[in-house]
Amino acid sequence: MSPQLISSYPWQKRGVCFMSPAPAEVDAFCSLIDNVLAPDGVNTILLIVRYNYEYTSHPEVRGDQPLSLSDVKKIVGTCRRNGIELIPKMNLLGHQGIQDHASTPDGLARSHPEFLEIPLGGKQNVHFVLCPSHPDLFPFLMDLADELTDAFEAKTLHIGCDEVFSMGICDRCRGKDNGELFAGWVNRIAAHLKSRGITTMMWGDRMLDAASAGYGTWEASAINTASSLGKVDKDIIICDWHYENCPDYPSVKALTDAGYKLCLCTFSSPENAERFFDCARKQDKGNVLGTFHTTWMPITELLDRLKNNPRITEDGKDEIDWTGRVIRCYCRYYRGDDYLKLPKPTTPKNL
Ligand SMILES: [Zn+2]
Repeated sequence: MSPQLISSYPWQKRGVCFMSPAPAEVDAFCSLIDNVLAPDGVNTILLIVRYNYEYTSHPEVRGDQPLSLSDVKKIVGTCRRNGIELIPKMNLLGHQGIQDHASTPDGLARSHPEFLEIPLGGKQNVHFVLCPSHPDLFPFLMDLADELTDAFEAKTLHIGCDEVFSMGICDRCRGKDNGELFAGWVNRIAAHLKSRGITTMMWGDRMLDAASAGYGTWEASAINTASSLGKVDKDIIICDWHYENCPDYPSVKALTDAGYKLCLCTFSSPENAERFFDCARKQDKGNVLGTFHTTWMPITELLDRLKNNPRITEDGKDEIDWTGRVIRCYCRYYRGDDYLKLPKPTTPKNL
């Protein structure tokens, strides 16, 4: 990596977020790391594992195609030899449905529906959410978190906690302040991880107030959790995600003023990345650690796309093109390429 290629990129973490590969895709994923991501200057990978690991403490939560310990070690070794920090990601509050099939319960909700805030069959509000007041949930989840961080030899764990739309509903939680519930829950997890020398990372949307922040109710909270801003442990790294092309990104100032370290997270719009990063550059007081370009698609599709055209793609509306645009974003920022001046690609014949 030539230093001048990244000289204009101001932050330390140059990240990309991926769904975890299926076991049959691990070799191809490692090849992607060796041959594309590392040469492009990516130094941090956020890997969305969730229940796709062969947990042994509670094997009933395993997903359909879980990674084995040896699969994980392959990915760990590949990242290590490329100087890439590998951060596994779980969902330790909301998003207990299967990715892209949110109404189908994922590993934990399927095997232990008693942990849900709203019982299976009840009127779910978009996603299944865990009950932070269930007395058996915390030790159960920490068994899984310990296993996963051990397998990944992780120094940081991303605990999710985004897009929670149901809190304070069950008999245990009703009447409690949602900001207190939320802050108490994430701080309890962070304290456990800290005791094991592990830093906590999480999405920031529940700490922002949708009514005043200028964001919608996915990127910010309409369920009264925003009072957790300032109460959530300041050692938790906040992933401030915004995928829309906004005139301003006031969350950067709000989170910075509250004392948090941030990673800025974008998706399919290079224009969004441009504005978000410019806004953050102007407001950064040393709190911005870096960026994650998120992909949100099955790794097979992503690998197919990258194999055929690893750098760029034409604009488009389907997910294949979304991912191409993510790759263009990171090329722009991490390699110093100007994506607008890159030659038009030829659309691969098999797409
Ligand atoms: Zn509850």
